[in-house]
Amino acid sequence: MNKIPTNLQNMDFRFVLINKNSKRPFEENWQETGNHKFNDKKLLDHLENGGNYGLVGGFGNLIIIDCDKKAIEERIEAILPKTFKVRTGRGGAHYYYTCKDFKAPIRLTETVAGDVGDVQWKGKQVVGPGSIHENGNEYKVETNTELKEITPEQIKLAIAPWLSAEKEKEDEIIQQDNSLQLIELIDLTKLKRHKDEYYGNHPLHGSDSGMNFWVNPSKNCWHCFRHDSGGGPLAWIAIKEGIIDCAQSITGALRGENYKKTVDLAIKKYGMKEVIIKFDAQPIKKDNIAKFEEWEFENLLPENHFITKYMEKGQSLSDAYPEYFFMGALNALSMAANRRIRIELSPKAHYTNIWAICVGKSTVSRKSTSIDMNRDILTTAGYGRSIPADDSTPEAFIDGLKQNARQNMLKDEFGLFLAKARLKYQTGIDSLLSTLYGCPDYYERDLRKEKIKVENVYLTLLGAMVPEQLSRHASIDDILSGFFPRILFVCPERSKKRKNLRHLTEVDEDLEVNLIVWIRKLFALTEALEEQDEYLHVIFTEEALNIYNKWCEDWEQRIVETEEGSEFSPFFGRQSICALKLAALVCFGSEKIKKLLDEFSNFSNVSNLSRLSKISKDNYYEFFERTNSTNITNKSFGGRGERFPALLIVGKGELDLALTYFDKMFLPYAKKVLYEVESQQTDKELDRIYRIAVKHSKRGCIEHSDLLRKANIKSKEFSECVKTLQESGRFHISIDGNNKTIYTPLKEIEN
Ligand SMILES: [Zn+2]
Repeated sequence: MNKIPTNLQNMDFRFVLINKNSKRPFEENWQETGNHKFNDKKLLDHLENGGNYGLVGGFGNLIIIDCDKKAIEERIEAILPKTFKVRTGRGGAHYYYTCKDFKAPIRLTETVAGDVGDVQWKGKQVVGPGSIHENGNEYKVETNTELKEITPEQIKLAIAPWLSAEKEKEDEIIQQDNSLQLIELIDLTKLKRHKDEYYGNHPLHGSDSGMNFWVNPSKNCWHCFRHDSGGGPLAWIAIKEGIIDCAQSITGALRGENYKKTVDLAIKKYGMKEVIIKFDAQPIKKDNIAKFEEWEFENLLPENHFITKYMEKGQSLSDAYPEYFFMGALNALSMAANRRIRIELSPKAHYTNIWAICVGKSTVSRKSTSIDMNRDILTTAGYGRSIPADDSTPEAFIDGLKQNARQNMLKDEFGLFLAKARLKYQTGIDSLLSTLYGCPDYYERDLRKEKIKVENVYLTLLGAMVPEQLSRHASIDDILSGFFPRILFVCPERSKKRKNLRHLTEVDEDLEVNLIVWIRKLFALTEALEEQDEYLHVIFTEEALNIYNKWCEDWEQRIVETEEGSEFSPFFGRQSICALKLAALVCFGSEKIKKLLDEFSNFSNVSNLSRLSKISKDNYYEFFERTNSTNITNKSFGGRGERFPALLIVGKGELDLALTYFDKMFLPYAKKVLYEVESQQTDKELDRIYRIAVKHSKRGCIEHSDLLRKANIKSKEFSECVKTLQESGRFHISIDGNNKTIYTPLKEIEN
């Protein structure tokens, strides 16, 4: 016969029927309703017939710690109050407690042995004392006392070493810094001891049960069972000093500023020895950008220049930065040049196509006003060229060029274009563009097993983007591939006055008509040149060429001498050619050329434009010779046989002007762009190393040689990264007992 011990005869407990020599309840839904009170006749009859029985967890707050190892018993008996205990048929132990607010059953595990016990709660049951195990042994009461009530914190404390392996790993995040010991920070005399652990009241926020905290001095770590948090000495100091809450010590608030504050206090107040690791490298500084001084834009061009008139028109209507209209004007001139202005310099000729990008915050900078105006003027003038779609594949792009090899890429959302260029099907679009930038006479590509041939390519670009897109979508590859260095960027950020909206006036319209007529005349000229298969050859006066060469030399010298040298050098290489293009376009848009064009034609009727194509070759020479006072003759420009070339002569004035814009605006902005892209790259590199460190950490940290090998970067760059990670509080660096450098990645704040 089986009798239920008095200490288990609680009206709130529930009992289940189990067959003789078995462990499994057989009634349906025994977890919820298929169970009985201790005095239920059905239960008593079942026991009378020699049946086994079990107790269901959760009813009456019953909780049973079921364990198979002596070590667990030892720890429970040392830490938890003495309670009702049963020796099981297999030799394990059942500790019976009551516990409010327990959440879910817990499994006790060990790395080698696997499962070594359970905390049984709702939905689980244990075989009761007096029952017979299938091996014939009886479940016997070992401690016959009343059941004690305990808290969830106490339970977790008691079974902490056997919580899941994951948990175990977290608990073992050890601060390897031996210069700071938890036993010096925590008063152990107020705690109880079990083996090499101390447990009891949380010294900082206390405990209801008197048991929610343990310290392991040999591992130099602690754990709080109220908050399921823990850490080493630094985390402890951070909580003690109010830098983070106890609860945060697991989500890792201890990084960045908090980390620095804590280390500072640890050194000053708690005697932590500063771990000084010798790095040759300097941490990667992020304050270079502060040195950038923005130029307050000035229009240096003459009053009656195309660019001046264009900007006047733009600025009369909008408070957008003047640079944006400058870029718009440059694009219009560059388009009108139409691959018919050739800069004849060794080793190769250049055409005057300009790629311009306006960078600015979305609403305040009004960069789109400038693109819209450019689009309006060119379309009205009859030269609104088709625009390649943002998402065209390199093949489709080439196919489009086959229809018209002279295209203006107006990209209101250049950032979107960059983002799409990263997509797989667009692979190669940026390197293709870099190739086409050179205005090849001839470009061939296989397309759908068919060769697509494009001749006399001439691409101009005017785009706008927000700064965030620059840092998000641009990569260092855009610089190395030479794609970005080919682009003139303006990224003004200075404050500017707001302009109120107003109605259009006659003056506005006159300005616009003037611009449209002007651009038509320029186009008429270059089209006439094309008909005759002729070019406007750009020749620099001796004086201008000397100035230019000196300018390049000075810049190259400056680049070598400054830190940013190696990265900026390819940028300068491309941009210095753009300076020549700008100088040529400054000539092309001058009042002199306009007046000469006026003399040649009455533009009242558009069809009269064609008259330009009938200018005699002699006239050509006279025409352009008069634009400058130099004495270059047709002999100075040899090798063209009988043909008499048209010359566009760039003198000191135009060149000085172009170089000033590069000195004050384009090159500083290019540096700014380079810096933005690079610092983005650096952030990615830091993230990468941080992630590798987290992934390959053992017991929370990773050895120097191990991380260096896995990071697979140059030792100097590695040192810079590691130092920066330390300074920003993402790495704790220390020396272990064997004098090896150890990195402890500190946890990221969860977003
Ligand atoms: Zn806590």
